[in-house]
Amino acid sequence: MTYKPGRHFLQIPGPTNVPQAILAAIAMPTIDHRGPEFGRLGLEVLTGLRAVFKTSRPVIVYPASGTGAWEAALVNTLSPGDKVLMSETGWFASLWRSMASRFGIEVEFVPGDWRSGADADAIEARLRADKTIKAVAVVHNETSTGVRSSIPRVRQAIDRANHPALLFVDTISSLASMDYRHDEWGVDVTVAGSQKGLMLPPGLSFNVASEKAMAAAKQAKFPRSFWDWEAMLASNATGYFPYTPSTNLLQGLKVALDMLAEEGLENVFARHDRAAEATRRCVQHWGLELNCLDATEYSSSLTAVRVPAGHSADKLRAEILARSNMSLGNGLGPLTDRVFRIGHLGDFHDLMVTGTLTGIELGLRATGIPHRSGGVNAAIAYLAGNAGPIEPPAAA
Ligand SMILES: *Cc1c(COP(=O)(O)O)cnc(C)c1O
Repeated sequence: MTYKPGRHFLQIPGPTNVPQAILAAIAMPTIDHRGPEFGRLGLEVLTGLRAVFKTSRPVIVYPASGTGAWEAALVNTLSPGDKVLMSETGWFASLWRSMASRFGIEVEFVPGDWRSGADADAIEARLRADKTIKAVAVVHNETSTGVRSSIPRVRQAIDRANHPALLFVDTISSLASMDYRHDEWGVDVTVAGSQKGLMLPPGLSFNVASEKAMAAAKQAKFPRSFWDWEAMLASNATGYFPYTPSTNLLQGLKVALDMLAEEGLENVFARHDRAAEATRRCVQHWGLELNCLDATEYSSSLTAVRVPAGHSADKLRAEILARSNMSLGNGLGPLTDRVFRIGHLGDFHDLMVTGTLTGIELGLRATGIPHRSGGVNAAIAYLAGNAGPIEPPAAA
């Protein structure tokens, strides 16, 4: 029997649950991508995206997964043999690093423990020691570890070292769920994707390039065609694309941008902060360990939870999938089988927080992982006392 009653809980940290209104927009007929209706759609989404990135710069949209936008950041700004400084925050930082190495970029990797954010002091020290470094690349929210790095602190490190390096930031799992400011934080290239905070299916990815990054692109020697910013921006000026865009995903993106604008980005961030705090209180009640070591670096879009030694996070996830029809994120790299990851981002509300946590507690019982029962009550108590943007009813 393949039928499973009840809706699947997709609580991995991306792809996230896609709201019905977005699915409906994607299901509309595909339109002519050279016709007048598309031009209006193109201009509308390209303009609307700027508010989400908090930028006055143009936003570039690729019909690609986030990995493509990583590549675009590198090939548009750098040349073979250039040196880049990256921080080992976890799996995604490591993947970006291997991509750069395969291009013949020389990567210096600031070592990390997969439980902490990028070390701004170490970045500053490396920049002071080496004036030839062309770019610093940081993952804002490391999806493999549940740790957020402070982008303003990395920016300050570059400025204190008085270093000309560009700043690249991967916001794939933070954009539209955690505060992010391309312009104000002095980021040169932002990388993002559609399938996490933007509540879309996978298939779109984004770059925002500062004026400094655009100037670097003029000197950059990497061959590029599909990822070329210049051709893209030239077409985008009138709402069109140099090749066939993901028409239907852009129809969905328009709805997603409307939803984010209606709720208000600050409310969106507060909703994620609140879901994350409720989740952590539950985990701490269970007596399980958060993977993120420093409370100032907690991610608001996911929580990575360590299982006690001698227990298997993958067995727990398999049990939860079979029993409760819920998917949780797996541990990646050295965290394989050591952590499970709870995605609480995108189209997400209180009942999904408590439902997710209930499914996990059922799984902890079934697999015999030692824990203190009743974690969900700790989450409920927190949610009840923090109504968020909704006004609690006045006392009678
Ligand atoms: C999901 C994710 C990626 C990978 O994006 P793809 O769409 O799978 O190519 C990269 N970086 C971070 C931080 C992510 O969360």
